[in-house]
Amino acid sequence: MTAQFPFDNSYARLPDRFYTRQPPVPVEAPALIAVNEALAARLGLTLPEDPAETAAIFAGNRVPEGAEPLAQVYAGHQFGGWVPQLGDGRAILLGEVVAPDGARFDIQLKGAGRTPYSRMGDGRAWLGPVIREYLVSEAMAALGIPTTRALAAVTTGEIVLREGRMPGAVFARVAASHIRVGTFQFFAARRDVDALGALAGHAIARHYPDAEGPAGLLDAVIGAQAALVARWMGVGFIHGVMNTDNMAISGETIDYGPCAFMDEYHPETVFSSIDQYGRYAYANQPQIAVWNLAQLATALLPLMPDRDAAIEEFTAAVNGFADRFDAGWHAVLRAKLGLAEAREGDAELALDLLGRMAAGSADFTNTFRALSGAEPETAAAQFTDPAALTPWLEAWRTRLAAEGREEADRVAAMQAANPALIPRNHRVEEAIAAAVGGDFAPFHRLTRALARPFDPAPEDMDLAAKPRTEERVLRTFCGT
Ligand code: AMP
Ligand code: MG
Repeated sequence: MTAQFPFDNSYARLPDRFYTRQPPVPVEAPALIAVNEALAARLGLTLPEDPAETAAIFAGNRVPEGAEPLAQVYAGHQFGGWVPQLGDGRAILLGEVVAPDGARFDIQLKGAGRTPYSRMGDGRAWLGPVIREYLVSEAMAALGIPTTRALAAVTTGEIVLREGRMPGAVFARVAASHIRVGTFQFFAARRDVDALGALAGHAIARHYPDAEGPAGLLDAVIGAQAALVARWMGVGFIHGVMNTDNMAISGETIDYGPCAFMDEYHPETVFSSIDQYGRYAYANQPQIAVWNLAQLATALLPLMPDRDAAIEEFTAAVNGFADRFDAGWHAVLRAKLGLAEAREGDAELALDLLGRMAAGSADFTNTFRALSGAEPETAAAQFTDPAALTPWLEAWRTRLAAEGREEADRVAAMQAANPALIPRNHRVEEAIAAAVGGDFAPFHRLTRALARPFDPAPEDMDLAAKPRTEERVLRTFCGT
């Protein structure tokens, strides 16, 4: 069977200045690491029976019929500094497929060769970031958090020069779209109002068909990002590089570079090696989202007929993020604590727990998972001083009693809200190290286990353990 992808490439129908048409650059010896069959089916793709042909497609060596490969242009603020032109420097958008249910998805190959936006880069990816993005993005999807997805990963048979000579790889990513805050900034900075209008119309049609005009779009993106960041924080996720070019208009998590899940809870946690000042630390993420959304608002202003009125309206909309984030965050926290009803004092109860966790170096995931069991008292073992949890447990028990939920219901609800398995850094690094040595078994095992974060198979419970001191990963690196 030959490959059949139901392409309908709406981005390629936008004006020329939105992209450069660019086929992927073939690689020497493509070999399949993994293909996400369930996702392929969801997208309505027919893949070749021969894995070598599938590898050739996802390596960029064979462009499937109907694809219109291109590199998208965008700009962005990186760590607060303006970069007027970025763009897909090592990624090629093959096109968009329309799934059987009508949903539209981009298929992009990351590491597919140089483009006009590569600057000094080689347009390639090495195996490490490819394994990392595959594992972490699929784990996020299994956790129910909006995210780009992993469709496939291949090795290229080529060497990529980074810190040393690394094996090359290509990652096939699926996204609702790859439109970023930085895409709007690119055209706004050039005062290209026609392009801005076309982009806003395209984004509205694709992601927020009920939104009315640029103001409606801004409001919808603010709501989506407030919900997203609250969900990240509920699983201890730190994006690590929330530049405006890495914030998707769709509200999906995008760009898994130096991202990481916390083991021990601390609000100031930072992993990224390049985030020297902790700009993108765990607890800073809502504020950074606001900063980025203010850039989106600024970029949309030229589309508004009355600039002064629009500044007032957009400022209020961006300032409204705080309440929308709080609502999402408090709902996440209530679910994590097994509280069915919203009551006065719930947020304080949750924040009191987090404060004790920070002071007691408690593992974020395992503390909440222990609280989710039939014997929540076992959570105390996560704290350097187990007694520090006792007063909180009493307050929580009192609060639970006030709403009279059946104990079995509380346990079931909490176990569906608090994962046992997350892609812990040391496990991800272990899978990468093995893969670099040619052994993909740890990667496949992690992929399989992380697909069931809330009801793991008993034989996967070793993956729930926090790292031993010597296993701890303190730094993560960008996906270049
Ligand atoms: P990122 O840090 O992944 O958000 O990437 C920032 C910018 O650098 C984007 O425009 C990328 O396309 C570009 N870039 C990153 N790595 C490479 C590479 N190896 N070759 C070419 N461009 C790259
Ligand atoms: Mg990026």
